[in-house]
Amino acid sequence: MSRYLLPPGIYLDGNSLGPMPGGLRAELSAELDRWESLGVRAWETWFSLAESLSPQLAGLVGAESDEVIATGSISANLHALLATFYLPEGERRDIVAAACEFPSDLYALSAWCQRLGGKLRLIPARHELLEEEDIWACLDERVALLWLPTVLYRSGQLLEVGRWTAEAHRVGALAGWDAAHSVGALPHAFHAQEVDFAVWCHYKYVAAGPGAPAGLFVHRKHAGALPGLPGWWGSDKASQFAMATPMSPAAGAGRFQQGTPSVLALAALRAALRVLAQVDLAEVRASSLRLTSLLIDLIDRYLPECALITPRDPERRGGHVTLRHSRARVLGEQLREDGVIPDVRPPDLLRLAPFPLQTEPAELERAVLAIRSRLDRAEWDRPELSQVP
Ligand SMILES: *Cc1c(COP(=O)(O)O)cnc(C)c1O
Repeated sequence: MSRYLLPPGIYLDGNSLGPMPGGLRAELSAELDRWESLGVRAWETWFSLAESLSPQLAGLVGAESDEVIATGSISANLHALLATFYLPEGERRDIVAAACEFPSDLYALSAWCQRLGGKLRLIPARHELLEEEDIWACLDERVALLWLPTVLYRSGQLLEVGRWTAEAHRVGALAGWDAAHSVGALPHAFHAQEVDFAVWCHYKYVAAGPGAPAGLFVHRKHAGALPGLPGWWGSDKASQFAMATPMSPAAGAGRFQQGTPSVLALAALRAALRVLAQVDLAEVRASSLRLTSLLIDLIDRYLPECALITPRDPERRGGHVTLRHSRARVLGEQLREDGVIPDVRPPDLLRLAPFPLQTEPAELERAVLAIRSRLDRAEWDRPELSQVP
């Protein structure tokens, strides 16, 4: 069976929605059969489904199994973590985040700052990149939390998780990470790097499907923290159905779950994790870097008028490559007509994401030549543009 089933054409948008794992349909079908034949009794097997995925999740982010759980969405998990760990005290009230961070993160961070009287300090981006001195300039003793993306969703810049976590700790702040654009594309070491907490989604490089349950990491050093947004699904499994008050939270990160999870979505995640279990993440990363390096070479050769936004240094690069061109939106639509599926970030960025285990080098050359050909034709007048990027 193929690892992944891709739509026709050259698929370069796996960092928005990863392709469907080959075994996913059978996995879902098995849960539908279970539901049909057992009804509510099927909960006997579903009850700990999220927890059963934790060893695999832990491998993806370099954690212990009890430090991770599949639950919620990035946005909901970030709120849950802020409600738990953002506890301003005295002068230490501010949160530092990247101005070019994914907007949903900024909505959550600024709402919590407003609620609890802190200031959201935004690290400015220069040409969609974060520079060290700009991060440093925001860090001092009044910072309660440094919140950063492992990979910037627009430029694809990769940040050093261990280093910035240590810098945050040096000023007495917590360090939290949004790993949406790196989980499944490269190895992580959240536990060893002393990351306080992190969130990520599973519908990008992990390819667990649209709206897949997200991931949440809380380091063991915070194992005693009580969830700030508790719900009964975060109970200790052995006593959950005692329905007692107050709640007895689960021992690990499972306590950050809130309500009944989507079993079908968890089954899809299990199918996606099975694919990744067969490969070494270091190899995924090596393949990803080979593909993005080739893409950058092709861009240099064929697309001199497009500005490359992504760092050339492999150590500073995640899994995608971003170009700037004033006609990016129309270009994106035209490429789809040509059978090349990129992703547009308005107003003028075109993201190209090879899927590390699937994309062929020859596809990248065909994609870049398709861009070349559209740039040469320069037919930019389009009345209707789709709302979905
Ligand atoms: C994709 C993405 C999100 C999406 O958040 P959801 O709440 O899961 O929809 C958040 N942050 C970043 C950095 C992303 O790339």
